Amino acid sequence: MDADQVVVGIDNGATKNNATVLDASGRFLVDRMYEIPSRVGDGPDAAIEAMAETMELVLSETGTAPERVAAVGLDTPGPASADGVISVKGATNFSQAAWWGYDVRSALETRIGLPVVYNNDGNAAALYAHYVHFGADAPARSSVSAIVGTGLGGGVIEAGSVIRGASGQAGELGHVQIFTDGLLAADQPMPTCNCGNSGDVESFASLTGIVRNLLPYWLTRHPDHPLAAVPIVQAAKELRTFGVDGDEMALKVFEQQAAALGRLFTIAANFTDPSAYFVGGGVVEAAPHFSQWFLERVRADTTLREEQAAVATFALVADRDMAGARGSAFAALASLA
Ligand SMILES: [Zn+2]
Repeated sequence: MDADQVVVGIDNGATKNNATVLDASGRFLVDRMYEIPSRVGDGPDAAIEAMAETMELVLSETGTAPERVAAVGLDTPGPASADGVISVKGATNFSQAAWWGYDVRSALETRIGLPVVYNNDGNAAALYAHYVHFGADAPARSSVSAIVGTGLGGGVIEAGSVIRGASGQAGELGHVQIFTDGLLAADQPMPTCNCGNSGDVESFASLTGIVRNLLPYWLTRHPDHPLAAVPIVQAAKELRTFGVDGDEMALKVFEQQAAALGRLFTIAANFTDPSAYFVGGGVVEAAPHFSQWFLERVRADTTLREEQAAVATFALVADRDMAGARGSAFAALASLA
């Protein structure tokens, strides 16, 4: 990229878009969220127009001339192919038939007349964590990221690039099944996931897993807990506040989530042996003592060989809200190298 050029990252969500601008020196020109309606529910034409408008807004707000843009990175929720074709079976965020099998990357590229690089939101967040953590060393390093949200997102990075797989579905870490011996309490039912699996990572380490599996069980052990009187979806959202305050039942739930992530990372250690293990999501937005406690639990539950432990790093992924747009910008920059 020439010194006067920039790349743009666009993060498309169910209801809102965010965007950023990254210049040739590696500096982000945006330090706040742009929450532009994404109009995904109005169908592809409206949504592509909203993405283009989001880009125009971020360029005008940063005083960046449109002709300086060398490439654009885009991320959306999945499932989608590696080059941005929404699943033919639809997706939670793309439920209308007009979206099924829709090539969102090509459509945006045609609309704005610039090269567009696509990642799903989990992979964009993983790229962001990787590039922020490693800086100039990023192209030579590897990492695995687990982002705990409604589901379990993240991705696998090798030599600075996302591992996409033959069909674009590599790095679906949430649906990796883990060894549950010693993880579940003696009378605790095996957690189940929306995908049909039992005992996969997302069935523990996600808000959905708390609602569906962990909290209903732990409330049977703590029937007098204040959250027993709260509807389960609301109770799950409030659980982190209890965890921050050291509540015994909440800590049991988060210990199980951390243990599930540790078992996932143990698989990663034997699979790609990454240089870094990143944990992100809502837990990182909690008080630092709680975030650090959670990360330490994940580390303690990850089994590494001595040689691996000597070189591996565990870290929290900061700036969760900005991760999609910024990771997409890094992907656009990498595509020009
Ligand atoms: Zn699953």
